[in-house]
Amino acid sequence: MTDLLFNQDSYLKETEASIIGVQENIIQLDRTIFYAESGGQPGDQGEIVLKDRVLKVVDTKKGSKPNEILHIVDGPIDQSLINQSAELKINWELRYAHMKMHSSCHILCSLVDALITGASVGSAKSRIDFDVDPSMLNKEELNEKIRDIISKDYPIIINQITGDELKSNPHLAKGAAVSPPVIDNKVQTVQIGEGENIIDLQCCGGTHCQSTKEIGPLEIGKIENKGKRNRRINIRFSS
Ligand SMILES: [Zn+2]
Repeated sequence: MTDLLFNQDSYLKETEASIIGVQENIIQLDRTIFYAESGGQPGDQGEIVLKDRVLKVVDTKKGSKPNEILHIVDGPIDQSLINQSAELKINWELRYAHMKMHSSCHILCSLVDALITGASVGSAKSRIDFDVDPSMLNKEELNEKIRDIISKDYPIIINQITGDELKSNPHLAKGAAVSPPVIDNKVQTVQIGEGENIIDLQCCGGTHCQSTKEIGPLEIGKIENKGKRNRRINIRFSS
């Protein structure tokens, strides 16, 4: 089991950890700040700094067991690394872009009243597929609303609910394509806004920024036709 530090603090850029497993080009650690690809958000990249060398982490993926995080490195490694301590450093620029984009995707979800059928978070642009009546979508209106929410600087609050609470509030899981992990009967929730101004509340295991203003300039890109009731909405950072 790996302690997932990014769930407690998505702003951790560096930390110390011990190597607990080595297999081919995969390293497992007792604790990690590397987010593993899931919910449409890519896995983190960065470095595992050992006493005598630096291993480049090219991707991070989930293993088959809960809390199993596989750090994929590009250099040759062997069992002698087990129990060694290491310094972890994520590629913060890339991760922060993913955080801002992921939070942006949640804002977009809140503006489109439809089931999500797919999602992909990128560092410069992202997309969400909706099962939606196309006449409900107006690009200019979406642009205005998304910019308004960003400029109002709503807090983004991470919480946890139990798996049973999720079962009695199924609307918190907005689509099978982005279903969040249930670990130890707990699911992370992401809430944008607070009190009477809750913009969005949904289950999500991703990493997010702390407030909407951090996202900065953003715009709706193409709205693509992917079938009779399927529309892909693209968003991208703008200057
Ligand atoms: Zn999410």
